[in-house]
Amino acid sequence: MALIVQKYGGTSVGSVERIQAVAQRVYKTVQAGNSVVVVVSAMGKTTDGLVKLANDISKSPNRREMDMLLSTGEQVTIALLSMALQEIGQPAISLTGAQVGIVTEAEHTRARILHISTERLMGQINQGKVAVVAGFQGISNTTEIEITTLGRGGSDTSAVALAAALGADFCEIYTDVPGILTTDPRLVPEAQLMTEITCNEMLELASLGAKVLHPRAVEIARNYGVPLVVRSSWTDQPGTWVTSAKVQERALVDLELARPVDAVEFDVNQAKLSLLRVPDRPGVAARLFGEISEQNVDVDLIIQSIHEGNSNDIAFTVNTAILSRAEAVALAIAPALRHQANSDEAEVLVENNSAKVSISGAGMIGRPGVAAKMFATLAEARVNIQMISTSEVKVSCLVDQDDCDRAVSALCDAFEISATPVIPQISNSESPAVRGVALDMNQARLAIRQVPDQPGMAAKLFGLLAEYNISVDMIIQSQRCHLIDGVPRRDIAFTVARMDAENAQQKLKETAEQLGWGEVILDRAIAKVSIVGSGMVGQPGTAAKMFNALAENHINIQMITTSEIKVSCVVAENEGVKALQVIHDAFGLAGNEKFVVPS
Ligand code: ADP
Ligand code: ASP
Ligand code: MG
Repeated sequence: MALIVQKYGGTSVGSVERIQAVAQRVYKTVQAGNSVVVVVSAMGKTTDGLVKLANDISKSPNRREMDMLLSTGEQVTIALLSMALQEIGQPAISLTGAQVGIVTEAEHTRARILHISTERLMGQINQGKVAVVAGFQGISNTTEIEITTLGRGGSDTSAVALAAALGADFCEIYTDVPGILTTDPRLVPEAQLMTEITCNEMLELASLGAKVLHPRAVEIARNYGVPLVVRSSWTDQPGTWVTSAKVQERALVDLELARPVDAVEFDVNQAKLSLLRVPDRPGVAARLFGEISEQNVDVDLIIQSIHEGNSNDIAFTVNTAILSRAEAVALAIAPALRHQANSDEAEVLVENNSAKVSISGAGMIGRPGVAAKMFATLAEARVNIQMISTSEVKVSCLVDQDDCDRAVSALCDAFEISATPVIPQISNSESPAVRGVALDMNQARLAIRQVPDQPGMAAKLFGLLAEYNISVDMIIQSQRCHLIDGVPRRDIAFTVARMDAENAQQKLKETAEQLGWGEVILDRAIAKVSIVGSGMVGQPGTAAKMFNALAENHINIQMITTSEIKVSCVVAENEGVKALQVIHDAFGLAGNEKFVVPS
């Protein structure tokens, strides 16, 4: 006999018939000898409907009132599902987040779970009842009790958190697709089902746009080692298991406030190569990294900043041991990228004495203050940042080798942990180089021109955005430096969620004026397409293949960032879906069967 938490999403409970079908599945699970806690979402598109009502009344509705409104959606479903269960002879009881005791921070519309009481739930289970719990909601227990919600898509997080708190044997997420696929089947019908994926890969995919799982749910599963499976509500297919490494016991307090940073890592053997002023047209990155991978040179971080005039800068890092090979390739292809033999285009710059320092940890997801704290700590230690690379669970900065020790010890102090050197990664041949591809159409790009190149600038910038709770993604400093009024200056570009874009631009404009920075430019018409796979570590050519697929289809890459297990490119918004399809195809992920998602 097992204790199982089952979560049913909006489409799965979208009508009376579907709620009855869910009741049947729950009933069968109980009949098989299990205890079941069910977590449900609001029916169908109810939450969207409620958001629209609020927006019809106010342009920026009060966040407390939003929670009051949106939490009603789930309350309808719990009552109806309990009735449906009782109707077929299965004792059941519906419970709101407050009744269970799902305690969160007092942050309306994006609260994190702190603690879940299990007494009332266990009491009901021990009486043979199925507990039907409202997902997405909780209460904050500061001086006055308030209803909170966890953020859109948050029912997944409620379910996994409940599974962790109850020590459930596993958590099943039932949805409208048969599991986790290689990409969103609504955009690429040839997407294929995977049998399993690691938590780390899923964390990246989920935060890069694959909405099949809420990233915070994956984070909790990883931190507490909750076995998690995503399955179809309509069939008995086994679905996709999200696997995690064995974890240490953790206390069930401050559930989602685990230490933001698990590790400070460093690698002193990094060299940076930049190609400055290369033409801003499709095919340049493909050619450069294609030829580099033919030399079997493994590139670590890659960034391409936003264009200036009609040219771009591309920079990448390699291990110093293979620098000369990488440099030879860059020097060999540079002339071909120039319009005229003696122009200053495609200049190759080498910086040999670099080190990479990184902070990593799933706890930094959605907490903009963590990256800002890293930058501030480096600034205080007078360490200049040459290059920044970000993923949802890691921020890496390239710094001068001489600054490495100082940087690492300052970061260890700031995050209260000890450091580990990076061990060169051996190819993870058991995992495919690319497990899945994701598209995020909800991002906007901000660029600030002519930011002085001094320690502390990134800290100031991202500290400011963190104050307003704006998470920043894909941070890229341009490689080109301009001397203006005797001060070297660079452009910094980054992406933020579209809904935060205007606010971020406004706040940055105010600061830019005070601090003498240049223009703050906003571009909303972008799409971010990413590949994710732990097998890409130590496999040269993975990024090149992605760039090549885009080049062959004449899709221009506007920005590039990478982390160990992902590569992301920003392209024009109207080319996003096409980009996703051609990349998915290029990695041979497409199956023969076409997938139709039920509506
Ligand atoms: P629920 O209401 O059950 O939580 P969601 O709509 O939140 O369902 O998530 C399921 C949807 O996620 C699917 O219908 C699909 O369109 C989308 N999706 C995006 N990327 C993927 C992926 N890699 N695998 C499966 N589904 C995906
Ligand atoms: N009903 C909420 C939403 O639509 C939560 C969820 O479904 O996960 O965002
Ligand atoms: Mg969902």
